[in-house]
Amino acid sequence: MKKSVKNQVNPSKWGEATRLVRGGLERSHHGETAEALYLNSGFVYDDAETAEDRFSGEAEGYVYARYGNPTVTMFEERLRLLEGAEACYATASGMAAVWGALACQTEAGDHIVASKALFGSCYQILTAILPKFGITSTLVDGNDLDAWRAAIRPETKVFFLETPSNPGLQVFDIAAVADIAKANGICVVVDNIFATPIVQKTLPLGADVIVYSGTKHMDGQGRVLGGAVVSTVEFKDEKLKPFLRHTGPSLSPFNAWVLVKGMETLKLRVGAQCESALNIASALEGTQGVASVTYPWLDSHPQADLCRRQMTAGGTMVTFELAGGKQAAFDMLRRLEIIDISNNLGDAKSLITHPATTTHRNIGQEARDAMGVTDGMVRLSVGLEDAEDLIGDLTGALRSS
Ligand SMILES: *Cc1c(COP(=O)(O)O)cnc(C)c1O
Repeated sequence: MKKSVKNQVNPSKWGEATRLVRGGLERSHHGETAEALYLNSGFVYDDAETAEDRFSGEAEGYVYARYGNPTVTMFEERLRLLEGAEACYATASGMAAVWGALACQTEAGDHIVASKALFGSCYQILTAILPKFGITSTLVDGNDLDAWRAAIRPETKVFFLETPSNPGLQVFDIAAVADIAKANGICVVVDNIFATPIVQKTLPLGADVIVYSGTKHMDGQGRVLGGAVVSTVEFKDEKLKPFLRHTGPSLSPFNAWVLVKGMETLKLRVGAQCESALNIASALEGTQGVASVTYPWLDSHPQADLCRRQMTAGGTMVTFELAGGKQAAFDMLRRLEIIDISNNLGDAKSLITHPATTTHRNIGQEARDAMGVTDGMVRLSVGLEDAEDLIGDLTGALRSS
């Protein structure tokens, strides 16, 4: 085949950066340099026989964008190759990925065990939405392996965990949790959104299914929503695809195109953001008014050894606790001159949020206490600005208090 049309000879052998720039690229007969945006919902067939064969699955090819689209496929392939996985399925958002990964493999009477350090909407799915369909959950301390074991019932189908967790940046031992799951025939679903596929490879640690929000680092520039589920071919074809293609949370081709271009710079951006995040976390430790700093690459992190075993860098998020509680946090946020107040994360622009009154507001005080989301906690998503400017902004805002 001509190189200008298709140049994917053995992409799984490529290094990570090459996979991120070229993985999944499928050029049209025009030979365009960049990935094409196929902004179409439907497809046409030369004859009725072709349509019949495509619908029956006998012939390869697209039928409808809710089922698949060439630009969406390029994004799926790029992420699949990055993870070294068998399959990847794109979704409209990270929550559509979480929902799809959990709901597609459970039915009334089934049970899920999850680490209680959860993103707010994941908590809602487990504690309010799935129970409506007769699927219950037990939430455990993710670091307590005995608690994972003790929570298992005959009807337990899934272990779900997020590490590092939002917003507390707790880190859980994926390999140890996966060992328990494997011994009991349970599927391990990991929310790897905070870590990113650059910083944490969860498949070698024993994850069966990985969920992503493309909205965060993959776009990384605050433009679109998107998500993806990474899995085996069997999981995708037998469970996920039938569930998602009929319920409809498909990734839009335009959003897929933004994400596929974002992937090209993912490694560079995340690398730079991790470097700044470590500098900022170190600078904040010992700054007056800061009671504690949580960052996976600091020696003070409660699971510092595990972080270094499981991750290749500390990630792009820094969480810290102000001695003066909510008032001090609000005062600091008001005084910031560069960093924006926003609940999004993974962006080129540094963003800061007060979880207790925003992302983790709806879960209630009791659940916040259980997760360690205190009134003095602030969560910083480190962007691509100069680290010195960010440190100056933070320390300046703290000093005026
Ligand atoms: C943002 C986020 C999600 C949800 O992703 P969306 O794209 O906003 O739907 C799920 N889990 C974690 C840890 C997140 O940070």
